[in-house]
Amino acid sequence: MIHIPKGTKDVLPSRSHLWQFIERTARETAELFAFKEIRTPVFEHTELFQRGVGDTTDIVTKEMYTFLDKGGRSVTLRPEGTAGVARSFIENGMAGGVLPAKLYYLISAFRYERPQAGRLREFHQFGVELYGAAGPQADAETILLADLFLRRLGLKQIKLELNSIGCRQCRTAYNEALRDYFRPHLEEMCADCRARFEKNPMRMLDCKEEGCRRITAGAPRILDYLCADCRAHFEEVRSLLDAAGVAYEVNPSIVRGLDYYSRTVFEFTTSAAGAQGTVCGGGRYDSLLEQMGERAVPAVGFAAGLERLLMVLEAEGVPMPEENRADCYLLGMDEVSRRQCFLLAASLRRAGIPCEVDLMDRSVKSQFKYADKTGARFVAVVGESELSAGAAEVKDMRTSSSERVAFEQLAQYIFAHKNKN
Ligand code: ATP
Ligand code: MG
Repeated sequence: MIHIPKGTKDVLPSRSHLWQFIERTARETAELFAFKEIRTPVFEHTELFQRGVGDTTDIVTKEMYTFLDKGGRSVTLRPEGTAGVARSFIENGMAGGVLPAKLYYLISAFRYERPQAGRLREFHQFGVELYGAAGPQADAETILLADLFLRRLGLKQIKLELNSIGCRQCRTAYNEALRDYFRPHLEEMCADCRARFEKNPMRMLDCKEEGCRRITAGAPRILDYLCADCRAHFEEVRSLLDAAGVAYEVNPSIVRGLDYYSRTVFEFTTSAAGAQGTVCGGGRYDSLLEQMGERAVPAVGFAAGLERLLMVLEAEGVPMPEENRADCYLLGMDEVSRRQCFLLAASLRRAGIPCEVDLMDRSVKSQFKYADKTGARFVAVVGESELSAGAAEVKDMRTSSSERVAFEQLAQYIFAHKNKN
């Protein structure tokens, strides 16, 4: 037998309605803010991620699914959504179109990671990108979108952690301060952190090793190094969130794992999902397009991990929609009645009523069993006497009461009664 690849998961039919609930909520929330969906390819030229995500990130150095295609080109399965959207934004001249460009996506992404609960090799994200707006209002609006999404899902125990990592100027001074702080501790830190020390010391704050975390806890704080403009920007984001009643905590150790961030960064975290506590991460990335060799366009966005959200929804016991069920099972008692049921089903479906008929040549008894097991609300029984009366005996499976309903009234009857009790 061939098994599913490590770090991937099937969504089985008994659970797909939960995914649909999360996806529907994502779309509806994005559309409340007048964002529009963008779809980009699953694979891109490897260079896009090297430039767009950044050479020093864990994603690019360790986690990418990169391969040569049959034409000898290096391509990579997208490890995140932002770089592909940026490529599309540039390639389609969106900077010259209506701004701000407000885009959202629902995608699968691929990272070669050590699989564990909430950490997969193929995972799913809902993300948004807002291009063209440099002011703090855009940051706040993006955070409000994420916050409303989580609220509409029904999540309660989620915390918003907020930080500013400043601009390039603030970070030059800060990186020096970080190097001075970490230099005497380098021996005790992991190999990754020693490499980060040279290339991008801020990334050391994002290390997940226990030993490193103890040391980073005492590191200088970026907030003490912000320039006046970055400080004012951060103050205004905070004041807008305060005004909108969105609670947050300033956490100076939030730096995000990707190179393109500047100024505002944030994470929505929870302790309900075990070790992988970040369900959503985002921030501002004004230098992303520049990093990709284009004219800079300010941008802000986030991505939320759908697997982790589902874990938290279940851990919190949040009520979620039930599995989809047919409204009506049409049960034929003999050969001729089965044929009538087949036709009745066709007309119910044209009227928009989910229903089913037997496709397995089952006895009356086992048809009832099937209807019960699949949870159809009504069973419309048709036999000899019903045929001659031109009406079905409709049993309400919830109340066990039955009623005779003319064939041509069946659709109307189900519409009228399915939301009762
Ligand atoms: P982490 O720090 O947990 O590795 P990250 O900083 O790499 O996360 P992002 O690149 O910001 O994550 O992706 C946004 C969100 O996507 C994360 O907050 C998380 O919910 C989800 N996510 C990231 N990597 C994975 C993965 N391997 N499996 C499942 N979900 C993931
Ligand atoms: Mg990661």
